Amino acid sequence: MKSKPRYQNLELQPIAGQWRKGSAERDLNVIDPFTGELLLSLPMASREDLDQTYRTAQTAQVEWAAMGPTARGDIMRRAVDIFDDRKEEILDWLIRESGSTRIKAEVEWASARAITLESAGLPGRAHGRILPSDVPGKESRVYRAPLGVVGVISPWNFPLHLSARSVSPALALGNAVVIKPASDTPITGGLLLARIFEEAGLPQGVLSVLVGAGSDIGDAFVEHPVPSFISFTGSTPVGRNIGRLASGGTHLKRVALELGGNSPFVVLADADVEAAVNAAVVGKFLHQGQICMAINRIIVEAPLVEEFTQRFVARVEALPYGDPRLPGTVVGPVINAKQLAGLKKKVSKAQQEGAEMLMGGEPQGNVMPPHVFGNVTADMEIAREEIFGPLVGIQSARDAEHALELCNSSEYGLSSAVFTRDTSRGVQFAQRIRAGMTHINDMPVNDEANAPFGGEKNSGLGRFNGDWAIEEFTSDQWVTVQHAPRQYPF
Ligand code: NAP
Ligand code: MG
Repeated sequence: MKSKPRYQNLELQPIAGQWRKGSAERDLNVIDPFTGELLLSLPMASREDLDQTYRTAQTAQVEWAAMGPTARGDIMRRAVDIFDDRKEEILDWLIRESGSTRIKAEVEWASARAITLESAGLPGRAHGRILPSDVPGKESRVYRAPLGVVGVISPWNFPLHLSARSVSPALALGNAVVIKPASDTPITGGLLLARIFEEAGLPQGVLSVLVGAGSDIGDAFVEHPVPSFISFTGSTPVGRNIGRLASGGTHLKRVALELGGNSPFVVLADADVEAAVNAAVVGKFLHQGQICMAINRIIVEAPLVEEFTQRFVARVEALPYGDPRLPGTVVGPVINAKQLAGLKKKVSKAQQEGAEMLMGGEPQGNVMPPHVFGNVTADMEIAREEIFGPLVGIQSARDAEHALELCNSSEYGLSSAVFTRDTSRGVQFAQRIRAGMTHINDMPVNDEANAPFGGEKNSGLGRFNGDWAIEEFTSDQWVTVQHAPRQYPF
């Protein structure tokens, strides 16, 4: 098959139903985090653009929702075909714009494709109900309807997937969507998806992208009267603020907040150490640890600490790091200099607090070599705070009960993992972890298009994927019909 010409004019945004430049009179520079090369400079969207876009979306949504489930599903399936046809183009952008290694870019492409394919089946499953009624002569119905216009704010780490997991189901279920991608990743976080859906036949105005700084258009994006739902993925402080804005002023909106994590990775004394080490290496270092579900704390039951640590460090020492274009690279650059500076501070703080640096090294450009710390305790910053980079500490637990206590001693509750050869013990342990997701004998980094993804505690509100997406992106209306005159008490 002849490959398609690459998408052109990526500096244009789908604003208010037209491909045009943002009118903010300020440019956003898109930089390759590894080479420092300027990939694209694009004029940002203004508040007027935002207002026009939301209003156009509101109008476009009505006709879109009126299309039958097969027609909407067909557009999703065509988008999946385009994901396949343009795989290399998509991977190339993920590598250059977000510093993804090829391995990570493939994982991300596959996840975004999978949620879009899952979404193709959602329109036909979004059904209402007929309920029994206590009132004689009454028919009690529940209608399920799209929410209307959905605003999506996504982060830079898995920009394509973390936008797609809201955009694809929201569209499939009859909503119009406006994306505000992260400023580090406007292409993979929004503009590519808009091109793909346009090519798939999505009517104009149903999907829009507004490129602009969160600090500039963020509040207006959330507070605008049109969107009735804001699906946010990013940090806890920004998420908290969005929750406040969505319930302030004169409006009350729904929010989904997918926030930070501090995933524990527990190795119980009866675990298969080799399997645990293999999982820990990937669960920590995939995408340089910049994943909300990434392992943030390794907690090992005392009898295995030494063996686990030795084997883990030996594996991590062999990980190739550097240029994400090279097919063998496992650890590429972190997203930008600011993130790198934050990680360097975390390294010094860990040393100050008495953690033992078992592996380290000086960053080259934005590439930070993997760091491993031993003798970490729960009160240290690297145990308490989200790391979001290629460093990790190992804590020792006296016994399984202590390991569980350590797991739960976090403000976060996104993902988690436990290794044990006793599966039923693993399940009981899992059920006592306060987290949205727990994986037994695997890493905490897991996301499947039909399984509920989301967090507890300060990790957020709401669930993505499959049936849970139907709940999130539609609303129920109770409608009753009184067929025979009702007997009222007065
Ligand atoms: P962030 O600052 O919260 O940014 C996320 C998104 O929010 C970006 O699009 C950002 O735009 C936007 N934003 C910033 N300030 C805003 C405001 N006042 N109003 C509205 N939007 C605003 O997060 P980050 O530091 O870039 O990303 C890393 C964090 O995201 C980590 O804490 C990580 O755990 C979390 N995360 C969570 C998940 C999950 O699924 N739970 C997934 C990925 C990342 P700008 O880029 O223009 O500032
Ligand atoms: Mg930020």
